[in-house]
Amino acid sequence: MLLDKSILELATGLRKGDFSSVDLINECYDNIAKYNGNINAFITILPRDTALKQAKSVKLTSPLSGIPFVLKDCYVTESVKTTAASNVLTNFIPPYSATVYQKLLNTGAILIGKMNMDAWGHGGSSENTNFGPVKNPWDRSRVAGGSSGGPAAAISARMTVFAIGEDTGGSIRNPAAWCNITGLKVTYGRVSRYGTIAYASSFDSVGPMAKSVQDCSVILETIAGLDPYDATSSPTPVSPYSALLNKKLNDITIGVPREFFQEGLDPEIKTAVLKVAEDLKNTGVKVKDLSMPLFDYGLAIYYLIGPSETSSNLARYDGIRFGLGREFFTDETIRRILIGTYALSAGYYDAYYKKAQQVRTLFIEEYKKALSQCSVLLQPITPTPPPKLGELMSDPLQNFLADIYTISQNPVGIPSLALPCGFTKSGLPIGAQLVGPMFSEELLLNIGHQYQQITDHHLKSPLSKGDLEGLKPKL
Ligand code: GLN
Repeated sequence: MLLDKSILELATGLRKGDFSSVDLINECYDNIAKYNGNINAFITILPRDTALKQAKSVKLTSPLSGIPFVLKDCYVTESVKTTAASNVLTNFIPPYSATVYQKLLNTGAILIGKMNMDAWGHGGSSENTNFGPVKNPWDRSRVAGGSSGGPAAAISARMTVFAIGEDTGGSIRNPAAWCNITGLKVTYGRVSRYGTIAYASSFDSVGPMAKSVQDCSVILETIAGLDPYDATSSPTPVSPYSALLNKKLNDITIGVPREFFQEGLDPEIKTAVLKVAEDLKNTGVKVKDLSMPLFDYGLAIYYLIGPSETSSNLARYDGIRFGLGREFFTDETIRRILIGTYALSAGYYDAYYKKAQQVRTLFIEEYKKALSQCSVLLQPITPTPPPKLGELMSDPLQNFLADIYTISQNPVGIPSLALPCGFTKSGLPIGAQLVGPMFSEELLLNIGHQYQQITDHHLKSPLSKGDLEGLKPKL
């Protein structure tokens, strides 16, 4: 199937005339017709005819020209419904486009869908959505992860070539781990956030999700860079990431912070993640045990600052300017607005919000110290394999705890690459993350690509298990 190929293989095939962009688009829509009814990854499927029309006239000017992609439904798209998976925006048609979308359109990439997610980014299972939960293509009785669950499930079930996700506290990495795909949470400011429906503005980051590190690097080259519309976007030059993936890993040390591997971590996940360090030793890297004693405070910082920022960001959805009224927020979103409003209110501000910002500074120092002893850190992504549908929703605290390994990087701003690293005995995907200093995307992608040269976890798809075939299409 064409959709098993990498972006660079597809780009070469398109140029050689082995197949056309029309063939690629048709393969995506055929798979959507076969699988999406059972997975529920899409909120909006763009009309096949519109995509085919673009495919027929596309000029092959970049590796992404003629390649189908999807967007998490938190990116505004001119004239295409954008919901953030909330009934508040159920009929919202934006008058302009997000920079990341515009950049992809400029290269001739073809948008085929807007994807299901936890509403406003609030969640880690893609169940907090007004459009029905996303189901994991590896086991449809389980969640796909979140909040970018729709994009991850769609890549994994070969309904798209790649996706743009958003990560505020793990939303690219968690569903990447649970659906067996690759995803990159970029350095804060590496990719413009203009046109992203904000969750927590000082944490939000826009990043690629795809089958491999190489695909992610091709996408990042296109979407990264300074944007006059986003004052927090960075002027740091964008590297030709995909051309630098084969650099030899000289003088690289992988740090393994022991606090990330203690109680609460599923033993099969612990073994698979630690094996990444062992495998990487074959490429010449060294491995070092180290300590990050502040680890335990991560959740508290994140769940004070995140809700504080979201309570402010969501104030604009007042039923007058955009969409419907506040009575359409889900319980999870109302919980976060309440926590944030409380933490920011007079009398509590110093005790909660200000204290959390102070501890955030300590966390920045903690990561600096850890990363001064090694090149990158190896950490788990999720404490457990994907839970059964409904399990996390019934217990808000458990829901927050599931984010323990992915919420500390966003307050610090550093990048993190999520990589498939194996399967549980029952066949559920496991992911690991490599975390580096600010603007170390080039290094992370280089190490990640070398890892994918010596392992094949990322090549496995749920379609090869066969149990998605032959399902009665639900359209
Ligand atoms: N699961 C985390 C939360 O609910 C992260 C979400 C995200 O990154 N958008 O806040």
